[in-house]
Amino acid sequence: MTKTVLVSGAGIAGPAAAHWLHRGGYRVTVVESAPALRPGGQAVDFRGEQVKLLAAMGVLDEVRRYETAMGDQTVLGLDARPVLTVPGAAWSGEVEILRGDLARILYEHTADHTEYVFGDRVTSLTETADGVDVTFRHGAPRRFDLVVGADGVHSGVRAAAFGPAGDFRRDLGFGIAGYTAPNHLGLDHTSIMYNEPGRGLTVGSHRRADQLHVSLVFAADGIEFDRRTPGEQRALIAQLFADTGWETPKLLEALPGAGDLYVDSISQVHLDRWSAGRVVLLGDAAWCAGPGGSGTGLAMMGAQVLAGELVAAGGDHVTAFAKYEERLRKPATVGQKNGKGAGNFLAPRTAAKIRGRNRVYRMLSTRLLGGLFVRMTDRAANALEYREYPGLDSAHRGTRLAARRDVRHS
Ligand SMILES: Cc1cc2nc3c(=O)[nH]c(=O)nc-3n(C[C@H](O)[C@H](O)[C@H](O)COP(=O)(O)OP(=O)(O)OC[C@H]3O[C@@H](n4cnc5c(N)ncnc54)[C@H](O)[C@@H]3O)c2cc1C
Repeated sequence: MTKTVLVSGAGIAGPAAAHWLHRGGYRVTVVESAPALRPGGQAVDFRGEQVKLLAAMGVLDEVRRYETAMGDQTVLGLDARPVLTVPGAAWSGEVEILRGDLARILYEHTADHTEYVFGDRVTSLTETADGVDVTFRHGAPRRFDLVVGADGVHSGVRAAAFGPAGDFRRDLGFGIAGYTAPNHLGLDHTSIMYNEPGRGLTVGSHRRADQLHVSLVFAADGIEFDRRTPGEQRALIAQLFADTGWETPKLLEALPGAGDLYVDSISQVHLDRWSAGRVVLLGDAAWCAGPGGSGTGLAMMGAQVLAGELVAAGGDHVTAFAKYEERLRKPATVGQKNGKGAGNFLAPRTAAKIRGRNRVYRMLSTRLLGGLFVRMTDRAANALEYREYPGLDSAHRGTRLAARRDVRHS
């Protein structure tokens, strides 16, 4: 009989897991707490081994169609005048795409063989000898062979199987926010970065000439991000950036109407193990590194390893989860090391630190050090080699749904 897997979270890791588990012959249900796919997020880039993965998934061409093709970034000084230009190639990798576009591509790529349930969440997991009994906030209880927690830094599956978030989440003292605003600056495939102590703004125009993607990073000691309503999130951002100069007042005008606002702490997740019985964690739920930690690429690579090890072990989840962890642990640690300094780099806390960061940035923009920087970033992205697993090669091995059908709870 076809084995069933419940994946919690329809971000990046969840749909990627749906793809590979289907290839491995599993029937997958994805439950997402949001009422629909979440469109937000900044650009994410892929390099080397991770590009091989996109090709193996059959989504590389589609990802390239939505490539940001970003040019240079202008960095402003404290007086809001340009102090340096960073070549686009320094950040954009081999192929760069907005996170929201990637999430949609992965969802569409999997929707004809995956049952997607929106607006619901797991409330309890009870393991039995041959499965996991799952209860949901809205839907009827169901039994699955395996459960994958791909529900991000505040993972509900992790809380149900391993304990409260506070035990595993380490906040790094900064917050991050992003939303879309009208392109009143007339940017065209370029971006601008501006800082005041403890606050960083990056605005860029990617694929759509009428839109600006606004990314905010800010010192956030003592700020609690959990359980804020969208209205409270807007109020928090408006308050934190209220007296910020340059174009900030104009950018904040778009905040009340921004449907894609994303606000969170910059946090890492550290656990000694990523599985408990038939429940396993993937992506940010397991090893969140924060910005700059190659989290998107590694979440997708991890999905392939997870499914590949399950097939290689003939469905023996104990062996498979151990092997999966063995392959992912080191690259996840590399990502966490890289991600640790992101807040201090993007939102230095003092004027002196902003000037110091800009000096480093200027050096990284030189041909010699720029090459070194790109090699360092490449190394992090390539920390996990893409490896084929026999049994995952043939496309559409699992059963397709008779008809595409998403369930939506309001
Ligand atoms: C809207 C959005 C915008 C983002 N923007 C940025 C950004 O600008 N910069 C950055 O560095 N990282 C950002 N991230 C995080 C980034 O996507 C991840 O670090 C990375 O891609 C790994 O993906 P993931 O699938 O593990 O986690 P995520 O992409 O965070 O996906 C997790 C999914 O699980 C869902 N979920 C959460 N709790 C539950 C629950 N209890 N039950 C069911 N579903 C649940 C979430 O709604 C989300 O769709 C963003 C995440 C989201 C959701």
